[in-house]
Amino acid sequence: MSEVFQGSFTQQEPIPEAGIAAAVEVMRSGRLHRYNTAGDEVAQTVLLEQEFAASVGAKYCLAVASGGYAMATALRAVGVKAGDRVLTNAFTLAPVPGAIAAVGAVPVFVGVTRDLVLDLDDLVAKADGADVLLLSHMRGHLCDMERLMEICNAARITVIEDCAHTMGAAWKDKPSGTWGKVGCYSCQTYKHINSGEGGLFVTDDAEVAARAIMYSGSYMLFETHKAGPPPETFETIRYHTPNISGRMDNLRAAILRPQLADLGTQCARWNERYFALEEGLRDIAGLTVIERAKEETIVGSSIQFLLDGWEDVAVQDLLARCKARGVELKWFGNADPVGFTSRYDSWRYVDAAPMPESDAVLAGIIDMRVPLTFSLEDCALIARIIRDEVGRVYQSAA
Ligand SMILES: *Cc1c(COP(=O)(O)O)cnc(C)c1O
Repeated sequence: MSEVFQGSFTQQEPIPEAGIAAAVEVMRSGRLHRYNTAGDEVAQTVLLEQEFAASVGAKYCLAVASGGYAMATALRAVGVKAGDRVLTNAFTLAPVPGAIAAVGAVPVFVGVTRDLVLDLDDLVAKADGADVLLLSHMRGHLCDMERLMEICNAARITVIEDCAHTMGAAWKDKPSGTWGKVGCYSCQTYKHINSGEGGLFVTDDAEVAARAIMYSGSYMLFETHKAGPPPETFETIRYHTPNISGRMDNLRAAILRPQLADLGTQCARWNERYFALEEGLRDIAGLTVIERAKEETIVGSSIQFLLDGWEDVAVQDLLARCKARGVELKWFGNADPVGFTSRYDSWRYVDAAPMPESDAVLAGIIDMRVPLTFSLEDCALIARIIRDEVGRVYQSAA
């Protein structure tokens, strides 16, 4: 009898009891809106912003409705206008080009390397064409951030980081989200802290922070933003910045604060699972493990590997076989977008130039979620199943 995995790839852990208790308290108070406070009460949303800013070492933080909203707000706040070209990753997920399209700008895709990071040579080649890079640390893979910042500083490109998959991660011990002008995070259920929906925005730039606060729908209540810039920053900005509501509420913030306090522990648990999987996937003919750079502090909430030069039918056969044994793998090479996986050429509202080298990498990328509800034994079992099935399919194809 061959082994079958029984667990769920989409089952999260429960919200910590402290978060549930804090959420109940907010609901009892009725004061769910961030600006609805009694006396000298500090809103949960403000406390979350202060704690998150401190956790990454950023000056300012704004809590918003989603990661996508944080990115669109960042683009607006650094001055992106309709029709502008914005550089971004060819290997990322739909909310990233979507944020660029949301402000009427035009995504220009930069390629992906076999290490699954932004191709910095391609970035150099395209640097003249844009003033802003929306850099997606897709699936937690960080490129050489020092070289990236050198390239972008030399070309006067403003960097916005999409840290939806890197909350808790760093390059050379400097947290992701603090290298560029703005860091954007998601608190959506499948990310590293979970309030269903939600986003966080960090920056050290007072004017960018002030604009973001005004955009998010602060009316003239910006003085209550304790993780915001001083009131004088708003002097003219408050008259010139439209309200595009996208605030976070106190209920979500209450749920998130205990999770943020636990983030270090959770990241260590993800990495135990990630490295157990990685270990189990080494030395399999036909399968390439993605080697992580030593400068990278990873958060292994998902794992990827490459199937180099496989025929589409063989990949599909492998996915079906693994699925039959309870292991859900996603493939970025699929010609048609399925589930959350999609490719730059499936965003047909963008007129993207063909990228044959990236296509060759994308064609082989297999992706798997690593929920914390998996045990280390589960990870070992999953790796055994993949090993077994890759062996079968690869051998019969060879
Ligand atoms: C989830 C995600 C986001 C933000 O998503 P929201 O659902 O808007 O919070 C941004 N980038 C990537 C790569 C993502 O996966």
